[in-house]
Amino acid sequence: MRGRLETEDTEDRSLLVVGDRVQLRPSEHGDGVIERILARGKVLVRADKRVKRFRHVIAANVDKVILISSVREPRFRPGIVDRFLVAASSQEMPAALVINKTDLADTDALREELQVYREAYGALGLDVVLTSAQNEEGLAALEALLRDSRAVLVGHSGVGKSSLLNALSPSLRLAARAVNRKTLKGTHTTSVAQILRLPSGVEVIDTPGLRELEIIDVSAVDLEAHFPEFLPLLPDCEKDNCAHVAEPGCAIKRAVEEGAISERRYQSYLDIRSELEKADKRHDR
Ligand code: GDP
Ligand code: ZN
Repeated sequence: MRGRLETEDTEDRSLLVVGDRVQLRPSEHGDGVIERILARGKVLVRADKRVKRFRHVIAANVDKVILISSVREPRFRPGIVDRFLVAASSQEMPAALVINKTDLADTDALREELQVYREAYGALGLDVVLTSAQNEEGLAALEALLRDSRAVLVGHSGVGKSSLLNALSPSLRLAARAVNRKTLKGTHTTSVAQILRLPSGVEVIDTPGLRELEIIDVSAVDLEAHFPEFLPLLPDCEKDNCAHVAEPGCAIKRAVEEGAISERRYQSYLDIRSELEKADKRHDR
């Protein structure tokens, strides 16, 4: 990098990040000097730990973010998916869901549960892909998901993110392990993202330290906008600025009682809302 880099992006605090396009001045030795970072498309960000209004860009020029989860070990937690969906929506980022370890769905009850979630999230407009890194189920579907955009993968550790990447590209094996070892060594608070190139030429950005996406700039009153199934009903609430918590004549609560909105999703709404209320108070919003 040149000593003082010119950027076209001034609000972001991150200088050069994974996914950036740069202007490079090649040297005679086959390497070169980065002269300039080109304007960024969509970015994934997290808030600065101390000064919330500052952002750190995690990855630039991203089209989609994919949450990797698993059926068991660790068990599938829809609450995490719902929170991820709000975070992706708050960052204006299309999202997709991978449920890995389908080989561990060894009871009828588990298999049925899996189908229910698949349909429920599919109905929200989400691409849902079921995979098993173990028996290679769904790998072609996963690659297709990666192919049509530049995706960033996030997921809690243990869900099988590295195993899936290794299954898609056996030659990545060493790299994936090396990264894990490095993050174990103490960079656990920062997320070191990297671009991986699969044999098919498809590029994917992996974020070893990033378990969840951050919900950015959403106050409690804005939350409803990030639940797509609420949107058509919002004008039917009797009260202006209805919070959909205990207000009479609430169209959302009516829809939950009638089964048109899932109780589980509504519970996620309440959980995230009470969290955001606390954050609003802290930040005096
Ligand atoms: P990461 O932390 O998300 O990168 O997860 P890893 O890829 O390191 O996998 C965590 C553990 O889950 C390892 O013991 C893997 O062998 C196991 N695992 C990963 N994918 C699968 C799968 O599809 N089925 C089963 N049964 N185990 C898996
Ligand atoms: Zn309401």
